[in-house]
Amino acid sequence: MTQLMNENGIRCDGRRIDQIRNVSIKVGVLKNADGSAYIEFGKNKILAGVFGPRDVHPKHMADQDSGILRCRYHMSPFSVTERKNPAPSRREIEISKVIKEALQSAVILKDFPRTVVDVFIEILQADGGSRCAALDAASVALVDAGIPMRDMVSACAAGKVADKIVLDVNDEEDKEGQADMPVAYMPNLGKITLMQLDGILTPDEYKKCLETAIGGCKQVYEIQKKALMEKYFKNGEA
Ligand code: ADP
Repeated sequence: MTQLMNENGIRCDGRRIDQIRNVSIKVGVLKNADGSAYIEFGKNKILAGVFGPRDVHPKHMADQDSGILRCRYHMSPFSVTERKNPAPSRREIEISKVIKEALQSAVILKDFPRTVVDVFIEILQADGGSRCAALDAASVALVDAGIPMRDMVSACAAGKVADKIVLDVNDEEDKEGQADMPVAYMPNLGKITLMQLDGILTPDEYKKCLETAIGGCKQVYEIQKKALMEKYFKNGEA
């Protein structure tokens, strides 16, 4: 078993307990999508493409009063060490659902009745926290597609590793640690749109973990904004 934290509180990948992995985002990377983003979140490498608003197929899914949102989170066969079967797994179906719900509160689709906005997420390389990183890229891709939004959605996990609350759990910490709490947050509205918890925390740890994750979301938000500024404003400034 890997030692997850040394006696100086340094984690297995060299980070402090309150330190997020390196995050970089590039906007507008797919020419055929209406909006797109590529994110590297530590060793996670993820592409998000947004298509729409466009006609809904099958038509019975259409809502006469609003546009609808569809999301697909998909892991490429080479995204993990053992080949991943390309068919959608139970886990990918669940993650697609929670990502959709986390973005749903932010998008405003009532002006696009009978249409759909499709969000396709391809995990090229996974390293723990991929649903949060995927959400971060998808949110930026929605902005890039010009979809009206109440706020950005910024996501980051926190967790419990070696009895300590840590920010941004990596793959090893996720597998061998004590708890993992992915959180998505609308930073200007101060609202949580996704919160899951795998593991057991005391009420105090729970509170600290949630606050830590929200702190991470706020850091990610700054990186999302900067990435959009880089595409839409000269020299990255408004
Ligand atoms: P998240 O990626 O959002 O943390 P999970 O907690 O379910 O979602 O997964 C944690 C990590 O486990 C993933 O990021 C990935 O690195 C790894 N993982 C997921 N599915 C597989 C798989 N089929 N084979 C190997 N590793 C996987």
